[in-house]
Amino acid sequence: MNKSSTDNQSPIIDNRSQIKDQFNRVHDYLRISLTERCNLRCSYCMPAEGIQLRPRSEFMTAEEVIKMSKIFVSLGVKKIRLTGGEPLVRKDAEEIITGLSQLPVELAISTNGILVDKYIDTFKSCGLKSINVSLDSLKKEKFNTITRRDYFDKVMSNINLLMKNNFHVKINAVMIKGFNDDEICDLVEWMRDKNIHVRFIEFMPFDGNKWDWSKGISFKEIMTKIESRYGENVVKLEDGKNDTAKNYSIKNYKGTFAIISSVTNPFCDTCNRMRLTADGKIKNCLFSGTETDLLSAMRNGEDIVPMILESIWNKKAVRGGMESFEDFSDSSQNQKNRSMVAIGG
Ligand code: SAM
Ligand code: SF4
Repeated sequence: MNKSSTDNQSPIIDNRSQIKDQFNRVHDYLRISLTERCNLRCSYCMPAEGIQLRPRSEFMTAEEVIKMSKIFVSLGVKKIRLTGGEPLVRKDAEEIITGLSQLPVELAISTNGILVDKYIDTFKSCGLKSINVSLDSLKKEKFNTITRRDYFDKVMSNINLLMKNNFHVKINAVMIKGFNDDEICDLVEWMRDKNIHVRFIEFMPFDGNKWDWSKGISFKEIMTKIESRYGENVVKLEDGKNDTAKNYSIKNYKGTFAIISSVTNPFCDTCNRMRLTADGKIKNCLFSGTETDLLSAMRNGEDIVPMILESIWNKKAVRGGMESFEDFSDSSQNQKNRSMVAIGG
């Protein structure tokens, strides 16, 4: 990726209408983590013992989430996704969703699905269209093993509820070798007569998730399994401009599927994403080891716009600076990050 002609100069602080980095990537998509807490314990996302919980005062209040979002929107943000932890475990999730729905942005949410029935009317009244739900297995026991809890039936019934209410449902499935790779074609078959988009995600390294690529299933392996079953009926679909996924369909199937290959083939060239953690820190990349504390600055009455611009300006070209597969696989580098539950996936 080439640097822009303003190489290594600091961000143009007076340009307050766009958030750009040194590679000319415009950042107009903000992912906000509402909480580090979760009602599941997915083994690829957080350590078995959970993560250290901190006092509520260290996290953004509903008003602060909305105030922070307004600042990002004034800088050109067009899409906001709420994530976590599990965003819907926050008691004030409805207040936040309602507040953000007043902004001129596409609002989306990633959830494990457990509390969807409680919030479905809010999703409707706030105009949410597409909901991402995590589901790593269609088998109850396996699902309960990986999530270390017993919510399979609830999640399935809430996925059905979303479909019945015409939401566009995207299913996120993290692929782990010897665990759920035998279900790749089952998941494709599952979407045969459903308006569902299944996304197979390569297993990524985060603090405390005991990552080791021998447990991962690559884009290539996933495609090989699907092509050997469906052959020429696999259809390549057009990918969106900033899409992190390669999209496909099967001839005459109602649903579609995609593969997110952050490990074997990162999609950094067109990245437009930035992340705000629940404690108000901006992360310019999912894999960056550095963060900027916007919440403390905002509470002190400082202007956080220059901090946002500076943070994104300093974004590395690829995966927080881990350019090669070797760097990415090196635990001394990839474990400098938080666990996924504390970043906001
Ligand atoms: N609780 C919500 C959920 O599960 O969808 C939102 C937060 S979760 C951290 C967001 C996404 O990150 C989920 O789809 C999850 O599968 C994915 N994820 C978590 N840890 C991951 C890992 N190590 N590798 C790849 N994806 C991961
Ligand atoms: Fe919770 Fe989502 Fe992480 Fe699973 S993937 S532990 S549901 S935050």
